[in-house]
Amino acid sequence: MAVPLFDPASPLRPLRAEIDAAVTRVLDSERFVLGREVGAFEEEFAAHLGVQHAVGVANGTEAITIALRALGVGPGDEVVVPSFSFWASAEAIPPVGARPVFADVDPATYCVTVESVRAAITPRTKAIIAVHLFGNVAPVRELEEEFGLPVVEDAAQSAGSSGPDGSPGALGAIATFSFYPSKNLGAFGDGGAITTGDAALAERVRSLRFHGSRDKVSYQDVGYNSRLDELQAAILRVQLPHLDAWAAHRRAAGEWYAEELAGHDAVVLPQATPGARPAWHLYVIRHAAPDALAQHLQAHGIECRGYYRRPIDAQPAIAAAGWGRTTDLPGTDVAAAEHLAIPMSAAITRAQVAEVAAAVRAFAG
Ligand SMILES: *Cc1c(COP(=O)(O)O)cnc(C)c1O
Repeated sequence: MAVPLFDPASPLRPLRAEIDAAVTRVLDSERFVLGREVGAFEEEFAAHLGVQHAVGVANGTEAITIALRALGVGPGDEVVVPSFSFWASAEAIPPVGARPVFADVDPATYCVTVESVRAAITPRTKAIIAVHLFGNVAPVRELEEEFGLPVVEDAAQSAGSSGPDGSPGALGAIATFSFYPSKNLGAFGDGGAITTGDAALAERVRSLRFHGSRDKVSYQDVGYNSRLDELQAAILRVQLPHLDAWAAHRRAAGEWYAEELAGHDAVVLPQATPGARPAWHLYVIRHAAPDALAQHLQAHGIECRGYYRRPIDAQPAIAAAGWGRTTDLPGTDVAAAEHLAIPMSAAITRAQVAEVAAAVRAFAG
């Protein structure tokens, strides 16, 4: 039986009538940009995360750029970011005029640590981007306490996760989400959000997402046209009440994998950070020969993928700018070389997990 790598469609099937009704509501309202649906979604999303403010934006990449701008990061500044992440985590930094400086990750958790960030900090560091990679929860509070610098949480992959200090999105100075269709909370197109507990930052973000203006009369900043649209907000509002159940399913599926693969030392399972309850966005294992393992799984109809085989600091655009690594990144290199995402979704069944795990065991011995 074929097992897909992810499956965003199945959990939405039972919600189809509600989604149709939400779309019709927006069409009937004849209001498509910054209307009631976006406002309502912002309130509901903030309440769900346990944070004061949420602001809808166009996507998760611009969300990071706007969050950095709102924090006052600009030319001459450095922003620490993990090299093992999706490209956009770092790509979002140069548009504000700042330089990305790459921190290592712990290859057990795929997240930065206090020590890995320390090695990347200089007197020019103005902010830290902590990525809650694959649904794990990065140590945001520890980073802010240790370094006294604002942390931007890149929570694009961690909607539905929680940690000892609360949910991603409510842990640092400011946080960013993506609602790209395959994420834990996915729109029917691009979308994103910025969350913060700081009212002044939220105001800056609201202005920046709309051309740097609050009233369409006075333009305070050279801003962005970066808005979540009404249709996406209405569709997200239908899904939000189900996010926790979907997250619980992802977490349970991670526990099934851990049971099935326990004792197979050639396979390194992802480790939740202390106290974290990850809603695994991707379930990413490590193996010394991930490409051979991938071929074996694919021959059995099981989809799998190495997402970040080349770390961000080694990408051509970063090398061309002269922004390569400034410290050793051994955890990044191990994670990049060995990781492999195996099937995970809010709809994956126990039988599918058993089938995938059996194929992994057959290869790994
Ligand atoms: C998806 C993603 C982004 C970018 O989000 P978009 O909505 O696609 O722009 C940023 N960071 C991480 C970690 C992501 O997974």
